[in-house]
Amino acid sequence: MKKNRFLSIIFLAIFCTGALYYHFRQSQSNDIHLENKALQDVFTGAEKVHPKLGSPPRYDIYQAHPDNPEVLTAVAFNTYDLTPEIKGYAGPIKLLAVISPEGTIRDIRVLKHSETPAYVFTLDDFISQFKGKNIAGSFRLGKDIDGITRATMTSEAVARSVDKSAKKIGRQALKLDVGDPSGDQPKTLSYIHIILPLLLFMAAVCGVLGRNIFLRWLALLAGFIYLGLIKSTMVSVVQLVNIGMLKFPDFVTNPLWYCLVVLTLLSLMILGMVYCGSICPFAGVQEVLFHLGRKLKWKELKFSHEVTQRARYVKFGVLFVVLAASFMIGNSSAANIEAFLILFAAHASQAGWAFVVFILVLSVFHFRFWCKFLCPIGAFNGLLADKSIYKIHFGPECGGCGVCDKVCPVGAIQMVDDKPLIDYPECILCNQCVEKCPKEVLFFKKSFHKSAQQRGSTEQDTLTKHD
Ligand code: SF4
Ligand code: SF4
Repeated sequence: MKKNRFLSIIFLAIFCTGALYYHFRQSQSNDIHLENKALQDVFTGAEKVHPKLGSPPRYDIYQAHPDNPEVLTAVAFNTYDLTPEIKGYAGPIKLLAVISPEGTIRDIRVLKHSETPAYVFTLDDFISQFKGKNIAGSFRLGKDIDGITRATMTSEAVARSVDKSAKKIGRQALKLDVGDPSGDQPKTLSYIHIILPLLLFMAAVCGVLGRNIFLRWLALLAGFIYLGLIKSTMVSVVQLVNIGMLKFPDFVTNPLWYCLVVLTLLSLMILGMVYCGSICPFAGVQEVLFHLGRKLKWKELKFSHEVTQRARYVKFGVLFVVLAASFMIGNSSAANIEAFLILFAAHASQAGWAFVVFILVLSVFHFRFWCKFLCPIGAFNGLLADKSIYKIHFGPECGGCGVCDKVCPVGAIQMVDDKPLIDYPECILCNQCVEKCPKEVLFFKKSFHKSAQQRGSTEQDTLTKHD
């Protein structure tokens, strides 16, 4: 469709320009600026901060009193300078740590990070636990330090990085006997987080290709439990922004991130909206609520095709605004608008919760209200799904009865001149149309123009009119 081509071009323009703008700004700025700002906040005049020098690189801080100008009162350093290999969920977490000559952590400030904002809203509280601890002690998560709920990877990265960098500084700059870092055992690849997403996608794909409703619900339930409740990790605009910013997590500590991104992209390019249709935890929640509404015989909220078509542009608007805003401000906090992040992070402002509750209530009355009209990552997935290799097509025996149009729960089918047209970016591959077609003329077929044009078939008509 021309509409989808146009939206894809806008997306690419915003994504590429935004990413270039972000990297240009990054090349102009460096951490020194952030470090100086944090140092000004910590030291208000009684101490003098010397320029960053030495190996390991650090700021030496001396008493500002003229009688004691040579008394070292603290050293400050950027943890990233000493532990660049330690990454959080989505890349390095840079902190400014201040340590007394005796090895006590005096202060610690966040300089920069790329973690999902909805999950690390308590990062400042979390790092304040380090204050007052001696660097010779241990910093084990869950024992010495309480982690951030639902952000274990971030908490672990911070604890390891503070522990390791502080001990390095203590040993090399302050000549203290601080022992070895407590949490610095080499990380091993967690194969379970490669196998589980693979199984999840396999179940979803088998459900789509085998028209198996049970497998589809099984995948939705597994997605809800595994991705939603246990891992709190979903396909989101945050990943899109981080890819544009070239911020990637460590594969060994976070293989799920890579599996989710790769499997979603592959399934989009081959079949279409497998993730949205059969895996997304928020989609499962919305569908259950919708079916509950029907069970209770509450009146369904229906919109005409015209209203639905127009309202769908809203989610593309949300996608473009969130992308542009994220690249402008230099992090993905604009993605906090994603209702599923709020729900599964279980944290939001009152306004955020009111928004999620509003969306969930609407889901009771309208099938996947959020997905259809508002979800920015659903909009992006749709643009890729439009170009998938295999799609549902109609055979030439189609009699134009319109049953498929009536049963499609997302209104992705429209009858034009007695021929059904599928809006592929909206199709969640639920197979309702395939199942209910009285003539059984719907099927998955390799796309797209070339073979249809060669044979001048009904699919050709469908596609041409679709444009
Ligand atoms: S549109 Fe958004 S919320 Fe809906 S299934 Fe897709 S990612 Fe999930
Ligand atoms: S009923 Fe609609 S959403 Fe389901 S497979 Fe058919 S076109 Fe796609």
